[in-house]
Amino acid sequence: MKIDVSNVTHEEAKKRLEELRKKLRYHSYLYYVLNKPKISDYEYDMMFQELLALERKFPDLVTPDSPSQRVGAEPAKEFKTVYHKIPMLSLGNAFDDDDLRAFDKRVKREAGVEQIEYVTELKMDGLAVSIRYEKGILVQGATRGDGIRGEDVTANVRTIRDIPLKLFGDEIPEVIEVRGEVIMYKKDFEELNKEREAKGEPLFANPRNAAAGSLRQLDPKITAQRKLHMIAYGIGEVVGKEFKKHFEILQFLQKIGFRISPEAAVCPDIEEAIRRCKYYTAHRNEYPFGADGVVIKVNDLELQKKLGATFHEPRWAIAYKFPPEEAETVVRDIIVQVGRTGKLTPVAIFDPVELEGSIVSRATLHNEDQIKRLDIRIGDHVIVRKAGSVIPEVVRVVKEKRTGKEIPFKMPDRCPVCGGPVVRLPGEAATRCINASCPAQVKERIVHFVSREAMDIDSIGEKLINQMVDKGLIKDYADLYYLKKDDLLKLERMGPLLADKIIRNIQNSKNRPLANLIYALGIFQVGKHTAELLAKKYHSLDEIMNASEEELAQIEGIGPITAKSIKDFFSSELNKKVIEKLKEAGVKTEEEVKTENENLPLANEKIVFTGALKSMPRSKAKELVRELGAETPDTVSKKTTLVVVGEDPGSKLEKAQKLGIKTIGEEEFLELLRRYGKWT
Ligand code: NAD
Repeated sequence: MKIDVSNVTHEEAKKRLEELRKKLRYHSYLYYVLNKPKISDYEYDMMFQELLALERKFPDLVTPDSPSQRVGAEPAKEFKTVYHKIPMLSLGNAFDDDDLRAFDKRVKREAGVEQIEYVTELKMDGLAVSIRYEKGILVQGATRGDGIRGEDVTANVRTIRDIPLKLFGDEIPEVIEVRGEVIMYKKDFEELNKEREAKGEPLFANPRNAAAGSLRQLDPKITAQRKLHMIAYGIGEVVGKEFKKHFEILQFLQKIGFRISPEAAVCPDIEEAIRRCKYYTAHRNEYPFGADGVVIKVNDLELQKKLGATFHEPRWAIAYKFPPEEAETVVRDIIVQVGRTGKLTPVAIFDPVELEGSIVSRATLHNEDQIKRLDIRIGDHVIVRKAGSVIPEVVRVVKEKRTGKEIPFKMPDRCPVCGGPVVRLPGEAATRCINASCPAQVKERIVHFVSREAMDIDSIGEKLINQMVDKGLIKDYADLYYLKKDDLLKLERMGPLLADKIIRNIQNSKNRPLANLIYALGIFQVGKHTAELLAKKYHSLDEIMNASEEELAQIEGIGPITAKSIKDFFSSELNKKVIEKLKEAGVKTEEEVKTENENLPLANEKIVFTGALKSMPRSKAKELVRELGAETPDTVSKKTTLVVVGEDPGSKLEKAQKLGIKTIGEEEFLELLRRYGKWT
């Protein structure tokens, strides 16, 4: 497979390489360290191939920390480090027959021979381990790590039944390091994920990640429960035994108690190896474990030695990667799911097809743009693939098969779960439901609401929130303030003391600073910093709710998109109801202005506005008097010192008169501002 980089300039390559390295490093971290890949192996491989092609064209741009010069990832700190006497390398990749022939040509040239005998083995998709035996007894098990330093997982490998604790037979070398792949069978993987789903635990993306996640456990008891297997494919250090051929090693490994790659075969030349690759490809779904390709190795160990290795891979072996499996099917519907964060995700529902050994009938279409890009319609014939990950994807539409009856998809303008408003902000790919009480998001929103930087309500964790929502005790975060002790006592593992404590914590949170409340509301794009900017400028939730989008966008640090998001949130009637509930419960939605302003002329004044002013919006009037040190509460109380009366005043005027509070009209108000240089 050729990636064309012929037109790329040195400058462009430099930039692109930096980008690729950053991405590859990030995805390697997710894959090797967290066992949670976000992209398919195929996508990763394509980026890696592009990196190699660019580095081949511009060798001066190869850096020592490039992923091409390294293997895997550093061992995790939680494990003891094991130094591999003989490095555990990765493998070069081949994607088609041409790649394999090119490999053969290079091997022949470098080895100086006319024909090379190869061994083909299935490439098991798990993680590499090295098991060290001394006098036939298992003394150490290690992961590959970064190839030089691995993680000590001795206690864990001891729990795997395929790994003998004591080697069989009487031809046992003094020392032998057996190398192989720890894998999980597909059926065990599916069962494990089912169990995890039932327990609400995150799922593993594929059997490979499940195997890695299960072996790299600090508690070997967990590894023991996970049904792992190992298939041996080679050796590291050996003392006290000599081999001539790789195939001889495989046979020996089998003799001393290991399983080896099923149907490993000796091939007299590359053409036979290519035929074997085709055979394995045709049968790829019949193996009980995931296999992602075929490894082709030079059989003669003398030649292997002569060919040597790079930092990344041996020069005597190559991995032929299976192409991602694709199938054609018909889209019957496009449904829209609402995620925990309110994101609307269109999902294609299609006639079930088999891909990489499992039946699939749905694939995420991610967002509106992806649907446009694919131009996918209900009724379309499509090509779907799985690409090494459990998440299937639609690759393309078979447009030739269109009949004209296909129905184009339109993103709904209301949330399919709650009927609330949905918004797609400029520059954002996602469409979101912004209803704070949407049932699809309610748990996530409450988790956010109670979090430390928000309302900081202690003793309410995710599990409790799940229970409260599932039992119907609360439907949105405002309901928290209406919870009664008796309600809480209905929950599992809840005693009166804890219930009292929770109620107390909830009640105590009513007086959190305004910025915390704004942040807690969960307005898309409004993080803690933006919440602070808003609180500083407006001092009350009502004022923020009344501010126009333009006004919000003028606040330094708040851009037009965030301003729109704020306005959208507060324009929703559903959200207004939730806010009303918060207020009624007594949650503080105003903030007293801090009187670092004591020397300002209107310090100690509490000015309330009622009715419309002709010369400026109320928010502006408030801002100006605040700059002079006054506070601007929303309601009239005994503490109010002055009421500014505009046109069509409301009940506040009556109240002021009843309480005998001084009132002034607009002209007098402007005069007051003039006196202090705030109006001309
Ligand atoms: P690799 O998996 O391509 O090949 C090397 C490994 O193959 C060896 O370390 C060994 O563990 C294994 N192997 C299985 N059967 C074997 C056999 N019969 N003989 C020899 N070795 C055998 O290389 P890698 O360095 O482990 O990982 C790179 C690959 O991992 C990439 O090609 C990519 O597919 C995947 N990856 C994916 C992501 C992602 O985000 N999806 C991220 C990083 C890596």
